[in-house]
Amino acid sequence: MEAGDTPVLVHNAKYGTAGELCQVRPGFTPKEGRGGKAGTRSGKKFTPAGKDEVIQRNALGQDDGIARCVNPTCNVELVYPAKSKTGVTPPRNEAQVDHIESEINGGSGDPTNGQAACGPCNRRKSDGPQPW
Ligand SMILES: [Zn+2]
Repeated sequence: MEAGDTPVLVHNAKYGTAGELCQVRPGFTPKEGRGGKAGTRSGKKFTPAGKDEVIQRNALGQDDGIARCVNPTCNVELVYPAKSKTGVTPPRNEAQVDHIESEINGGSGDPTNGQAACGPCNRRKSDGPQPW
């Protein structure tokens, strides 16, 4: 960033800066129970720590340490999301953490039921069964 630039809106500075690639943090190791123990968050949203855990696990599983959309035919590199703003279309590769078993069907909002997808793939799946 150049001097005098306006800082970008940061969605969750603790875990990632908006617009930057979701790269695995040096020293990250998956932690069971972080963001909720398996099956304990039926029908609930993910916590910020739970979302981070899902994205970091995804990134850790990639050869280059950059998280990618879970849909294998998409596989786009994901960037950290910005806070949504009226009239601003977010980039299509913003990371979204999706319930594998949908929230509306009682799927748990813990990282074991989470997957990272880009916006369009997440919307395509919606509350339906896993299409990939
Ligand atoms: Zn995708």
